[in-house]
Amino acid sequence: MRHRERHKTHRTGWLRAAVLGANDGIVSTASLVLGVAAAGAETKAILVAGVAGLVAGAMSMAAGEYVSVSSQADTERADLDRERKELAANPRQEHAELTAIYVERGLDQALASQVATQLTKHDALAAHGRDELGISETLAARPVQAAMASAATFAVGAVLPLVMVLLLPAGALMWGLAASSLLFLALLGLLAARAGGAPVIASVTRVSFWGALAMALTAGVGALFGVAA
Ligand SMILES: [Zn+2]
Repeated sequence: MRHRERHKTHRTGWLRAAVLGANDGIVSTASLVLGVAAAGAETKAILVAGVAGLVAGAMSMAAGEYVSVSSQADTERADLDRERKELAANPRQEHAELTAIYVERGLDQALASQVATQLTKHDALAAHGRDELGISETLAARPVQAAMASAATFAVGAVLPLVMVLLLPAGALMWGLAASSLLFLALLGLLAARAGGAPVIASVTRVSFWGALAMALTAGVGALFGVAA
């Protein structure tokens, strides 16, 4: 029976994107809302700013992810096309190149050459893509899905502080919002660490630290403008 160790590295792609999206949603919306609240705005104005921030942030995440994943896919496609041409034009040189890569990784010359021969016979382009270019899953990048997932996770994160604005009494808004947002961030860090099998304390601290810093800065800016106005 085939035994496979249960590593979690393959999960890090979507996990990273989801945590990043939710983290951005919580931090930017909570900070925005705190800044507006610190300037002395009414609840309605605070909510309008928060909802606008949610939409703007989700769209910006989607656009950024789409552009980044598309250009990554374009680069990989171009690299593989070039490699396909080289394989057709100079098969001996490409074999030597693959052999040299395996020698560098620790095989002796004879074995490296043998491995290169067999892998070339099996799927030359896949072998060159993986071992020379570092492209493991050929054209696995899906820009539209990545864009929608980023926007959705951002929106989920952004909704949390907005719900708190509705629930908290006006007098306790600032501190209540800051405390609950830090709690959400800590929970997100915990979830991310659990899902990825990484150390919990480090993850929670990292996520909470940047959130606290962002909220403190925007609250400070809002308070300055509130006093000046
Ligand atoms: Zn090659």
